[in-house]
Amino acid sequence: MQKERLRYAPSPTGFLHIGGARTALINYLWAKHYQGTFIVRIEDTDIARNIKDGERSQLENLRWLGIEIDETVDVKDAKYGPYRQSDRIEIYNKYINQLLEEGNAYRCFCSPEVLNQIKEAQIKAGIYAPKYQKTCRNLNKNIVEEKLANNAEHVIRVKNNPDITFAWNDLVRGEVSFNSNDIDDFVILKSNKIPTYNLGVVIDDHLMDITVAIRGEEHISNTPKQLLLFSLLKWTAPKFAHLTIITNHDGKKLSKRDLSLHQFIEDYRNEGYLPEAVFNFLALLGWNPADNSEINTKADLIKKFDEKRLSKSPSIFDIKKMQWINSVYIKKLDFEVYKNLTLPFLKEAYDLSNYSSEWSDLLISIYQKQLSYGKEIVDLTKIFFTETDFKNDSEIDEVFNNDSAKLLIKEFKNGLNNLEVWSVDNIKLLIKQLQKELSIKGKALFMPLRIAASFSMHGPELAKTIYLLSKKNVVKNITSVEQFYDK
Ligand code: GLU
Repeated sequence: MQKERLRYAPSPTGFLHIGGARTALINYLWAKHYQGTFIVRIEDTDIARNIKDGERSQLENLRWLGIEIDETVDVKDAKYGPYRQSDRIEIYNKYINQLLEEGNAYRCFCSPEVLNQIKEAQIKAGIYAPKYQKTCRNLNKNIVEEKLANNAEHVIRVKNNPDITFAWNDLVRGEVSFNSNDIDDFVILKSNKIPTYNLGVVIDDHLMDITVAIRGEEHISNTPKQLLLFSLLKWTAPKFAHLTIITNHDGKKLSKRDLSLHQFIEDYRNEGYLPEAVFNFLALLGWNPADNSEINTKADLIKKFDEKRLSKSPSIFDIKKMQWINSVYIKKLDFEVYKNLTLPFLKEAYDLSNYSSEWSDLLISIYQKQLSYGKEIVDLTKIFFTETDFKNDSEIDEVFNNDSAKLLIKEFKNGLNNLEVWSVDNIKLLIKQLQKELSIKGKALFMPLRIAASFSMHGPELAKTIYLLSKKNVVKNITSVEQFYDK
């Protein structure tokens, strides 16, 4: 059986985006599920749009996610390389010449200005999809040669023929077909002598023995153009799967201009998300396993992958779900790994020079169960580093709207002041004592204590929180709450 060969073919016009990463990941899962090869090909022929760090960001972040690349610019297979399109120009030229010689392509000398005028006139006349008028399709051979001798600027276009159906069985969408009348004599070689995407992709997918091309749905309209080239070059096209779009919460397609949401993998990496969790999350954007499980390791996902379960409707990018998945993975980390994830953020945000490492270890440890991503530790631990004034609200007023809560925090403050050794165990003991002496338990016990000690209704383990806040700060906090409600 033919070995599966799948490729992710990013243009280095930006950093690795959520959408690109999802496409890469589905290609990767498919390849690995069938013990095939996963290839990354850099499609850098749109020179003006390439950015300096685009290629680095793509490769580095795919690898960070745990996606091993079997063949790419720095892992070469002599049979299939090079893997950067700008290094394959000679290869493309060979096939462009073949298309010209066989009469399936022609040189077009129309200037961009003239083409624009024609296009605008067509739009004015109500033509919805303006087309090239094929002015140069049947130029006299002598004229062409004369122009070439004068180095006249030109492009090369493919010859499209009328009334042909281009159809394929899309592995996401089922049967899709286009009539060739809707396709232009499109450009395959630009005037700067660089081939267009539609030409490069066909030649590369063929020469690289690609079996399935999985990509975003924005490429559906390119597929008939590619099928035209496949047929003119007498090659078999790969299978196609066009993944559905990813939307934000409002149902709008994710746009790089939308600043309300991080969209690049490096942003998540910089905020302390775990690669295993991001991998797990992205894999579920547009696909889900038959058992509907949400938490799956890479190995699980490779095993469970099933192309029949690629989603047919748009996927919503749900940051809350990503945070939840990340928190599941964070909970499972060994403390040392968890510490490496969180401590650098803490150090960057706060001056820890007055605290012992036992103190900061305990501080980060109490948040391991609830932390969604590494950087969140900074916000969560704010109360330990910044002085705040007590602020009441109706819920807090409700808690202190009785004498027993007031008595409780008074006794608690006395107890803390009298503690000889400031330790988590002694604080726990004191809380137990008060529970017995005052016969209160549960919420009625913990809520007033937590609010009085930390000014907050929620937080991690109370005794540890109090210990970390220090006797001085907790006593001060309780005093201000007492003063507030004694007024
Ligand atoms: N270079 C194209 C892109 O970045 C890839 C399209 C394809 O996979 O064929 O969208």
